[in-house]
Amino acid sequence: MKLLSVIVPCYNEEENVPFFYEELLKNEAYLKEKEIELEILYVDDGSGDRTAEEVRKLHKADARVHLLSFSRNFGKEAAMYAGMQKSKGDYVVIMDADLQDPPSMLPQMLACLEEGYDSVATRRVSRKGEPPIRSFFARMFYRLMKRISRTEIMDGARDYRLMTRKMVDAILSMPEYNRFTKGIFGWVGFRTKWLEFENVERRKGETKWSFWKLLWYSVDGITAFSTAPLSFAAVLGVFFCILAFILIVFIVIRTLIFGDPVSGWPSLVCILSLISGVQLFCLGILGQYLAKTYMEVKRRPIYLLKEEL
Ligand code: UDP
Ligand code: MG
Repeated sequence: MKLLSVIVPCYNEEENVPFFYEELLKNEAYLKEKEIELEILYVDDGSGDRTAEEVRKLHKADARVHLLSFSRNFGKEAAMYAGMQKSKGDYVVIMDADLQDPPSMLPQMLACLEEGYDSVATRRVSRKGEPPIRSFFARMFYRLMKRISRTEIMDGARDYRLMTRKMVDAILSMPEYNRFTKGIFGWVGFRTKWLEFENVERRKGETKWSFWKLLWYSVDGITAFSTAPLSFAAVLGVFFCILAFILIVFIVIRTLIFGDPVSGWPSLVCILSLISGVQLFCLGILGQYLAKTYMEVKRRPIYLLKEEL
């Protein structure tokens, strides 16, 4: 018998918890046939609603259901990490509670593992039902990442992924604080099969990701998996040095030919404000990396548990 751990990060998902359970158990016949046992780990990421209650109810009826409750909201990244740490399965799969990661794909995914893959990842090929600005920025993000990072991050990749124990252990060996799991999946390597599916809309409730939250998340992703912005600051610096040199030569020659009438105040102001803007921008980039390093050296725990069932 093999064991399959299903990790479900939940943040205020009281309505979705029981539905998810029902949907997942529709695979029971298949799992039985393949001699795979099930373990469901709901990770309650500091929900303010009755999410934990709902899971407790399920736990009472079905011992395969487990609960990890955080002391506060630590974010989905922390929830996935905690789930992987506590999972015991030979196979581990991460799924959203809102059924945007269709559990009906499980048989297909498990079949891929039998073909010899270490991991089966999913990506959505459409973004229907999503605000166009969000889709636009998401596409831009993936395109940028492709350019500046050596770690491959697929456009539309979801965290919905089935992995073997080998890969999960590899991921757990990365105890970094600034976790960007989509990048980590790519970084650890292993043979990965990609499956595609059409976007499914959230069953109940609303997305926890506002536009700004996503924007900051993308900055996290970039700083975690690329140092290109730092080089960009250096390149910009060199560019402005060259420009300044050309300007100096130009002004010296012009003064020699035409004399030096006192003028040029507006151009001076423009140049000054441009350069100081660029400097502050580069300082900001540096600051981002410094901030991440600061959080990393503090070595704070990634999550704190309040309850474990
Ligand atoms: N989630 C979480 N902690 C958070 C935010 C979200 O555990 O701080 C969970 C959430 O309950 C859901 C999954 O992460 O199961 C995906 O979140 P959501 O559906 O809001 O994101 P979207 O699908 O819109 O990207
Ligand atoms: Mg969702």
